[in-house]
Amino acid sequence: MGRTVVVLGGGISGLAASYHLSRAPCPPKVVLVEGSERLGGWIRSVRGPDGAIFELGPRGIRPAGALGARTLLMISELGLDSEVLPVRGDHPAAQNRFLYVGGALHALPTGLRGLLRPSPPFSKPLFWAGLRELITPRGKDPDETVHSFTQRRLGPEVASLAMDSLCRGVFAGNSRELSIRSCFPSLFQAEQTHRSVLLGLLLGAGRSPQPDSALIRQARAERWSQWSLRGGLETLPQALNTHLTSRGVSVLRGRPVCGLSLQAEGRWKVSLGDSSLDADHIISAVPASVLSQLLPVEAAPLARALSTITAVSVAVVNLQYRGARLPVQGFGHLVPSSEDPSTLGIVYDSVAFPEQDGSPPGLRVTVMLGGSWLQTLEARGCVLSRELFQQQAQEAAATQLGLKEPPSHCLVHLHKNCIPQYTLGHWQKLESATQFLAAQRLPLTLAGASYEGVAVNDCIESGRQAAFRVLGTEPNS
Ligand SMILES: Cc1cc2nc3c(=O)[nH]c(=O)nc-3n(C[C@H](O)[C@H](O)[C@H](O)COP(=O)(O)OP(=O)(O)OC[C@H]3O[C@@H](n4cnc5c(N)ncnc54)[C@H](O)[C@@H]3O)c2cc1C
Repeated sequence: MGRTVVVLGGGISGLAASYHLSRAPCPPKVVLVEGSERLGGWIRSVRGPDGAIFELGPRGIRPAGALGARTLLMISELGLDSEVLPVRGDHPAAQNRFLYVGGALHALPTGLRGLLRPSPPFSKPLFWAGLRELITPRGKDPDETVHSFTQRRLGPEVASLAMDSLCRGVFAGNSRELSIRSCFPSLFQAEQTHRSVLLGLLLGAGRSPQPDSALIRQARAERWSQWSLRGGLETLPQALNTHLTSRGVSVLRGRPVCGLSLQAEGRWKVSLGDSSLDADHIISAVPASVLSQLLPVEAAPLARALSTITAVSVAVVNLQYRGARLPVQGFGHLVPSSEDPSTLGIVYDSVAFPEQDGSPPGLRVTVMLGGSWLQTLEARGCVLSRELFQQQAQEAAATQLGLKEPPSHCLVHLHKNCIPQYTLGHWQKLESATQFLAAQRLPLTLAGASYEGVAVNDCIESGRQAAFRVLGTEPNS
């Protein structure tokens, strides 16, 4: 009888792991178990009454690098090429990003000329921060917070305005707690290898082998900065589901895993409450904190390490306005914590993807709320009502973008514990998990946003790597 691999979690990581398992020349029996009724995890797209698309989770995927190319390859393999909505390099959403500081929007400088010019909110041209970076010695610690690393290499303004905002935009997190080594590994590696981040980025880390396809070549030729799908990004998990089912993968929905136990022959029993599954190997693509609760006593040290990988919540407020205009054209703006502790940033969805505006077209923006403001409310056990988030988001849109009229449509979702936090020393947690799994020879492989990257591309890659580890084959490009 062939092996059975059970994949826990039907978010994009679990779907990607199942996808790569199912495409092996001699695939094992694959069972994907999802706790909710819907696949896709945080990837969720909702259609408004006028046909407009509202993304409740991710809204854009980057095509750059080997990971970006592999995701595009998967898109082609799934037959979704004609659904792709690119943001081409010459588009304002590719060229303009803003910071909201001191009550005003400031365009982030681009190109060499931009770096030489004074660029508020920074007091001096960023060229000077670059010069400082080039002559700063290499750090000696095995890890450092993003804030400390940036302050040491690029100065306090870049740390407290630019990197603080970036950490809020990508991780909804605090740059004074997040790890440079785990959150921005390319910056950490560039310093380690070339002593300077700028030198490292200029000289490059050497190109890793990349797949090739017509879509990948098009993305390169047109310098796409990101892309979405016509019907919203949830089209991707839906297409993966159709593909998996056609390949004989059992996809179970509405079946939360409630425990894992090891049997005498080294096989797993996966408890689903009223029934169970036997597995030769498990790929876990549920959050680390969830897995830590499912593991048996034999794996207590692993459970302890995983339980320390926490996540923060984000309130996503999608707003649509009739007859309104934005003061600037770009991807969106980020807000440093010193300016507004509640608003992480606002994405100008209609600029990047006007095709999703509905009919008649309405201006769509998404306000992301979180940070210390939300953490404090959660810690105090406050009532987190829809009205609270809607009011906060409308105020931010009015103050920061001049959108003072009430929105014609509004969606409010509080995503609890949705973004894992790679805090200082995260790499040690991963190392102790890896060592435990190797020493105990546990047939368990970890995938998902909890470990080595939260972006959709990172999650897809983690699923791919997990599948190849289980299959015992080397991933090709
Ligand atoms: C608001 C927001 C905006 C984002 N924006 C972007 C963006 O623009 N671009 C980008 O690249 N990335 C973005 N991200 C990040 C990215 O979307 C996520 O990191 C990624 O989707 C996580 O995928 P995952 O499969 O690892 O985890 P999840 O999506 O969390 O999937 C885990 C799955 O496991 C299931 N599960 C949990 N417990 C059990 C159980 N006991 N039994 C069975 N199943 C269980 C859950 O229901 C879920 O479906 C964003 C994230 C958020 C929250």
